[in-house]
Order: sequence, then C-alpha cells, then structure tokens
Amino acid sequence: MVDLPGAGEERIVDTHAHQPTAAFLEDAGGQMMRDAADRFGTDLETWSYEEMVAEYREQGIGRAVLLGWDAETNTGNPPVPNDHVAEVRDEYPDFFVGFGSVDPHKVDCVGEAIRCVEDLDLSGFKFQQIAQGFDPSAPRHDHLWSTIEDLGVPIVFHGGNSTLGACAPGGRGLKVKYGDPMLIDDVAADHPELQILIAHPAFPWEREQLAVCQQKGNVYMDLSGWLPRYVDEQVLHYAGTLLQDKVMFGTDYPMIRPEEWLSSFAETVDYDESVQRKILFENAEAFLGL
Ligand SMILES: [Zn+2]
Repeated sequence: MVDLPGAGEERIVDTHAHQPTAAFLEDAGGQMMRDAADRFGTDLETWSYEEMVAEYREQGIGRAVLLGWDAETNTGNPPVPNDHVAEVRDEYPDFFVGFGSVDPHKVDCVGEAIRCVEDLDLSGFKFQQIAQGFDPSAPRHDHLWSTIEDLGVPIVFHGGNSTLGACAPGGRGLKVKYGDPMLIDDVAADHPELQILIAHPAFPWEREQLAVCQQKGNVYMDLSGWLPRYVDEQVLHYAGTLLQDKVMFGTDYPMIRPEEWLSSFAETVDYDESVQRKILFENAEAFLGL
C-alpha cells in the first residue's frame, strides 16, 4: 500500500473504473480497444470483480465508480448493459457506485436514463462522446440533459483525445473533436443544476478544461487515464491551488491499475496533506454524495 492520506481507513475513492471483464474489454471495446492495447503494448487480459475489489482494497481504496458503456449506434459494438452495472453494484454495495450509460443516438435514451435511476438505482451517467460519436452541445441532446438534471444525478463526460482506435486508418472513424471540453461548457451553462465531472486531463485541451472548471461552479475534473507523472504541469498546479476543491482521483481501470497511479501520485506531487485528502477522497465524497 502506498503511504497516502485515507489509505489506512480505506477511504480513497476512484471516480473512474471500467469492467476488467470481457463485457467491456472485448465485447463493447471491440477492434478499437484492440488498437489501443496494441499501441500501448498491453494485452487484454480479463479477471473477475472479486479480484478487482481485492486489488483496490489492498491499496486502501474503499469505493470505485463503475461505469456503463453504450456506444452501439456509432461503433456497432454491444453495450455493457446498465442492468449488469446494477448487478455488480448489488454484489458489492459498499464498494461500487454504479453509473449507467445511454446512447444519445437511440430513440429511447431518455426513457433508459429514467429507468437507470428510478428502477436500477444507478447513481449517475457516463458519456464517451468520441466513442458515442456525438456533440454534447447540439440542441437535439438538450432533453436528455434536462432529464438527468431533473433526476438529480451527476454526469461523467469524457475529456480530451481517446486512445480507442489509436493508429488505425481513420482512427476507426472516431472523431477526436467531440472530446473538446468547450462543448461541455455549453451543457453546464444551460443546466446549472447538473453536476458534471470531466474525466481525464483533456489533452490537448487541458487549458480549456481548467478554464471551464474554474468558471462553472457545476463542473469538476478527474486525473484518470494518465499517470500523474505524465499530467500537464499546469493541471497539477491548478489541482493543488485554484481547483483543489474540484479535482478528483481516478484510474481508468483496468487500463491503469490503482497501485501504479497512487505510486506515481506520491512521487510526482508535493501537495499539503489537506490537498491530497481533497483529491483522493473528500471531493469525490462531496460530488457523489457518499
Ligand atoms: Zn475510461
């Protein structure tokens, strides 16, 4: 276990975890996930939720947000069903916080969003605009954002480039522009009660992301998807100062494992203990209402 605040009490919260199973890595991920794995020199090994939870607890992490995935219209790959996320959450109710996913191109996406919260008791939603192939600021999606705002649960939006489809011809047809955080700024402005977490340092738009997080009271960010030693210095500076109440720890499991992220964090930053507590768990506890 890395010596960090909150680890002894298993209080650390990971705001961004995917399934380490075939449901995500093989079925939903498909060829675009294999491209990413080839590019980064990893294999797509799978393992169980039991092993996942044990791995987290060994690192002093007490909660993780488990994300659904539905990019079926744009990718042709099957979703990680919301019912599956809810089932896994129910198996480990003290550990997982379940976030659903709805495909904004599907005609029943609003109804599915309502079902996720009212029937499945999921705690929020994840959108991956590049994989799902949509512009969140487009007026046609406004009804979905109003619905989620009324449901009173938060949204995780993807931020920045994606490794999915990396180096494939045409990037498998995925469009990087949908990862621009400025598109999320429109959603945040029009829906002030909607709590929004922009996942990942939003390369190459980290500055835009910092500006949006600073200007919008309802927008936050996490540090998932990147080991801290590779995160843009200005992001790390803001995380320790102006945005210390808005930046959260996340891994992007299983692509990044908790021990390697937390070790890199401990080696890279020199934040006060009070700031480390905010980033590792206090901000997430407040955002997620834990
Ligand atoms: Zn992710």
